[in-house]
Amino acid sequence: MEIFRAASLMIEKDNGIATLWLDVPNKTYNVFNRQVLGELHSAFDRIAPDSSIKLLLIRGRKKNGFVAGADLHEFQSITTSDQAMALSAAGQQLFDKLERLPFPTVAVIHGPCLGGGLEFALACDYRVAIDHPKTQIGLPEIELGLVPGWGGTQRLPRVVGLERALQVILQRKRLNAREAREWGLADWTTSRQEDLPALITTVPGGARQLEKRPKHGMPLRNWRQRLIESTPVGRTIMFRGAERILRRKVPDDMPAPFEALDAVRVGLTQGMSAGLAREREAIGRLATTKACRNLMTLFFLIERARKLQEDVDKDSVPEIRRVGVVGAGTMGAGIAQLAALKGFEVVVQEINDAALAAGTKKIDGLFQKAAERGLISAEEAKQKMAAVARTTTWQGFEKTDLVIEAVIEDLPLKKGVFKELEKRTRPNTILASNTSSLVIRQLQEGLSHPERVAGLHFFNPVHKMPLLEVVRTATTQEKVTDILMQWAAAVDKTPVLVGDSPGFVVNRILMPYLNEAGMLVAEGMPVEKVDLTMRRFGMPMGPLELLDQVGLDVAAHIARSVGPAFGDRLKPHPALDLMCQAGWLGQKSGLGFYRYQGKKKTVNTEALTRLRSDLSGRREPAEPVGGDKLTSDKMLEARERMVCLMVNEAAACLAEGLAESADVIDLAMVLGTGWAPHRGGPLRYADDRGAGDVVKTLETLAKQIGPRFEPCAELRRHAASGELFYKRLTVA
Ligand code: NAD
Repeated sequence: MEIFRAASLMIEKDNGIATLWLDVPNKTYNVFNRQVLGELHSAFDRIAPDSSIKLLLIRGRKKNGFVAGADLHEFQSITTSDQAMALSAAGQQLFDKLERLPFPTVAVIHGPCLGGGLEFALACDYRVAIDHPKTQIGLPEIELGLVPGWGGTQRLPRVVGLERALQVILQRKRLNAREAREWGLADWTTSRQEDLPALITTVPGGARQLEKRPKHGMPLRNWRQRLIESTPVGRTIMFRGAERILRRKVPDDMPAPFEALDAVRVGLTQGMSAGLAREREAIGRLATTKACRNLMTLFFLIERARKLQEDVDKDSVPEIRRVGVVGAGTMGAGIAQLAALKGFEVVVQEINDAALAAGTKKIDGLFQKAAERGLISAEEAKQKMAAVARTTTWQGFEKTDLVIEAVIEDLPLKKGVFKELEKRTRPNTILASNTSSLVIRQLQEGLSHPERVAGLHFFNPVHKMPLLEVVRTATTQEKVTDILMQWAAAVDKTPVLVGDSPGFVVNRILMPYLNEAGMLVAEGMPVEKVDLTMRRFGMPMGPLELLDQVGLDVAAHIARSVGPAFGDRLKPHPALDLMCQAGWLGQKSGLGFYRYQGKKKTVNTEALTRLRSDLSGRREPAEPVGGDKLTSDKMLEARERMVCLMVNEAAACLAEGLAESADVIDLAMVLGTGWAPHRGGPLRYADDRGAGDVVKTLETLAKQIGPRFEPCAELRRHAASGELFYKRLTVA
């Protein structure tokens, strides 16, 4: 029997069990906005006095899930701290009301249950998690520069314990249904929604015997909780440890993790209402920070880029069914596996049987990993693997709709492959290259149908990296890039459309940065300090760590190949070549800027001594290697050198029309390289800092160090006019 109805929810009652069904209109997922919060208030007011209700189940009516979180579009309209605090208070009061309902409450979680969705579930007495790959439970507010503001910092530690709560809140851990059960966040799991009524009614004593749960006290499930977390001294030690880790790991200008830790601490030392007040204050402070604004913008940019993806499956890219991949090395194997995983027919061409066997092994390994991660079943992995056709004679390429070339980075070789492809494919088969440093127009030269050729630049490792640069030249047909953008979405990548330039957008902006890092080392700056400087800025790893990961030979090759197009802005530094000649190729050779021994990583001092003496003609290194003598001034100067070069290059890319707008470049840098997300990308960073200040810094560096720092015309124009790069952004 229906007992309450509003736009976003309805409540029915049957035999003493009430069920609240959430179904927020016009949304793919249930999300909380002011209207939904208001309707929930009314619903709770209506049922609270009903003494015939013995149990309340709260469920999502949508197939996509229970409650995905708060409506971030609404958050975008917040401009003052007071407004943010008021929104936090509104949610806190509602969940307090839910917690105080006189009958036991059970949240039934399926699909993504993040942020406000989990805070809602935490205010219930019990939780059931549906065991499905889409069930994901977490508090990702820090990724938006915020803290959980609706009681999450208070209730989660009281349900799962302090250490585990900090993993969810600070380390962004997301739980699946089984983990939630193990941690005590879920009281039951079931694999099918339909089994739920039986499950609830078969709990010990029957559903009607479920009782309100006492809210105080910390869980005592494991020995750490019993011995450490349950005592004030133990908790103090834990808070100190967590703070130390944050100080080491959180980049500058990113206050949210510290605020979250503090809210948890206040709640556990001074009680829940002091903790909730601390949460509200934190939200008030954080909502107006640049970090929060930038992270929100990125969230919306990714959402916009992926909008396309939501309803795209292979059937909606009718032009593409069968995909050919040429070369099954690191990238080709990854691309072939991805396409097969996403349901495309795949055929792989290699140069000989041995290379084909090696490629097959790689593809097989990737399928096995996908099965281990639960993306597909082991059976499905086997079937999909067996369906990947393999050849050394181009057999099957005559039926391909799209071919992606991923042979080694060698222009004559690649040109030969494209010539061959003209013979082996239909005239309208789309031909794409995964080159990282050559320009696509060179590959189009001499072909009868250059209009069907484009770039599809995947990042390594293909299965993990979310970005795909779709590259068009002046002759690439628009229809071709349209189809490729759609196809990118169909294989679950976030596509950006970019112009044809050496290194396209991401590698082009990255190269001057990596080159500069090499120079700093050759000048005497300790390797770890160069990396630390940029990690503090917000990069996920330092430039020398990145060079070691990419491979110094690969980087040197890219630098050589793109260098001439940069003029004075990029003179590849001999450091990279010297390292390669010595066989120090990075992680893959066990030695690069660092020495890799198992999981241990230490500075490769031999390489540095040699580098510095060879490059400066001295026997001894310029400064003690790895010393701790570097002043913060020097680190600041190093940071300015590395960062301003990227900003300059990003502005030059925009001026050359390589991307439609600043946000495309920023999104590419964040998704392609992990570029300090809380700073929004190089061009948002220029806006926040002021283009004038960046230009002034570059001019000083150009005078002191050399012409590579000369600001480009576009950056000067912005500095002179005060025009922002982001003037036209409308994503919210
Ligand atoms: P790789 O050396 O691992 O693989 C290249 C494969 O191509 C080898 O298996 C080789 O046998 C095969 N091959 C060579 N000539 C061939 C031919 N004529 N026909 C068929 N197969 C042939 O190289 P990789 O790292 O996979 O790079 C491939 C391409 O992707 C390059 O253009 C590279 O610049 C680009 N790329 C690489 C990365 C990366 O991080 N490795 C990232 C982005 C793009």
